[in-house]
Amino acid sequence: MRVHTVQQLLAGPRAGMWVYMGGNDRSWYIECCAAAARTVMSAPRSMRTASPAWQELGHPTPTDAYAHMRAVLLEGLDLNRSFAGWTGCQAPDGKRICNEATHKAAALPKLLFYTPLCDTHRTRDTVESMWDGPGAWIGSQ
Ligand SMILES: [Zn+2]
Ligand SMILES: [Zn+2]
Repeated sequence: MRVHTVQQLLAGPRAGMWVYMGGNDRSWYIECCAAAARTVMSAPRSMRTASPAWQELGHPTPTDAYAHMRAVLLEGLDLNRSFAGWTGCQAPDGKRICNEATHKAAALPKLLFYTPLCDTHRTRDTVESMWDGPGAWIGSQ
């Protein structure tokens, strides 16, 4: 199992900053600022502390780190998932749900959101209004 949550960096040039991380007892990795973390780690060990990529790694508050993870996940949104058969669109439509027949879904990475939506509602705006994640979660990946 892996835990996904916000943690404070305890060492390094950005100690005290917050990042969204995934991991378990053995290892942790940065998920929200993953590109900056990869750049830092790709430098030779003796050069890592001086890497300018540190400036793009970490956030002043846990709220900022959650918000960055949310933005990264929404960038990975897939609005064209197909599944076998038809079902009703789950998007809110006033006080009801839309229920228009569809065989497509919107999906976020790791299926943090996977919901059948019709052609009208299969948009990033709809997903953003229906999903308030990621928060902290535990899963197999
Ligand atoms: Zn980040
Ligand atoms: Zn709909």
